[in-house]
Amino acid sequence: MDYESFFAQQLKQLRSEGRYRVFADLEREAGQFPVARLHAKGGERRIAVWCSNDYLGMGQNADVLAAMHRALDRCGAGAGGTRNISGTNHYHVLLERELADLHHKEAALLFQSGWIANMTTLSTIGRMLPGCVIFSDAENHNSMIEGIVHSRAEKRIFRHNDPHDLERQLRTIEPGRAALIAFESVYSMDGDIAPIAEICDVAERYGAMTFLDEVHAVGMYGARGGGVAERDGQMQRLTLIQGTLAKAFGVVGGYIAGSAALCDFVRSFGTGFIFSSAMPPAVAAGALASVRHLKSRQDLRQQHQERAETLKRRLTEAGIPVMASASHIVPVLVGDPVLCKQASDTLLFDYGIYVQPINYPTVARGTERLRLTPTPLHTDALMDALVMAMRAVWRQLGLRRAA
Ligand SMILES: *Cc1c(COP(=O)(O)O)cnc(C)c1O
Repeated sequence: MDYESFFAQQLKQLRSEGRYRVFADLEREAGQFPVARLHAKGGERRIAVWCSNDYLGMGQNADVLAAMHRALDRCGAGAGGTRNISGTNHYHVLLERELADLHHKEAALLFQSGWIANMTTLSTIGRMLPGCVIFSDAENHNSMIEGIVHSRAEKRIFRHNDPHDLERQLRTIEPGRAALIAFESVYSMDGDIAPIAEICDVAERYGAMTFLDEVHAVGMYGARGGGVAERDGQMQRLTLIQGTLAKAFGVVGGYIAGSAALCDFVRSFGTGFIFSSAMPPAVAAGALASVRHLKSRQDLRQQHQERAETLKRRLTEAGIPVMASASHIVPVLVGDPVLCKQASDTLLFDYGIYVQPINYPTVARGTERLRLTPTPLHTDALMDALVMAMRAVWRQLGLRRAA
């Protein structure tokens, strides 16, 4: 077989569908976010980033950087092993305690990423718990889907954010059978928010466990940044809360928080936890500083929401088709993969504004979009420039306008 031509053919297919991914070669500049340096064919230029998941700019926060410098100088570069074989550093222990406290749970468990936390936890529970059936929201993130598939447990998909459909399906399983409901709080591509209380009501009626991915909410919602479940007063009702340290917390890593027995169970049986080296101590120290910092930064959370509201309003006034969103995420509909890429390229190269095109399979075909993520560091002046540029690009490419 001609292996190379197989690979090349697959890539050609992607390109022809306008779905081939091109990475922007960026150099982030601490202290300048959201401005960064772009390395491109024509040389180097400064651009404004409008699609980062560093939602609060914590990637350059002074407390976080100082904690990382200190830990790096004290402990060196790597952790030196898996958690079981010499790799547990005191910073990991402190961070797990801090995360348990953030979510008012008995325990927490760290992973190298949020993706691995979802994959490992769901695959371990689904594989080990006899007869377990997993109910998964139709819009769940790839990391949960992979975990569920890998567990080989029976999987039922319920309609997105629909507790009635969930209940209709739960009713059909044998009473007493083990069940787990996996869903997210903020869905990152549409910016809509799950009815957590209603889903917990259903779970309690049928004795099901709940697994909530709060990746796009931790640090940003709730009085201490515990997520939407904290905001809605539901944290104690959830069996497991999963989060990332890579988005609003600005560093990298993932975790779950739950009962002591359940966290110990995943620690003891989860292969994605056991057989992989621990995160570097300096990373754990940075995340620890970030979680602590954000516990008291209600002002930053308020500024974040204000920026998102202002951007939605200003784009709508300019006739740009902002999609309905109940959160800090501002999706703008283009509805075609090739035009979406063109709009993104024009914004970048003609206006110095970077917003990555979001195409299938991340979103459904026909709903290709630009996904904007304003932060408290996106000033009015940056917003003026964005709105002006988007108006011009919409005109130039003849893109669909708001109804
Ligand atoms: C980004 C993301 C993850 C993965 O988190 P990482 O820490 O980036 O690996 C998990 N769930 C959702 C919903 C995400 O958007």
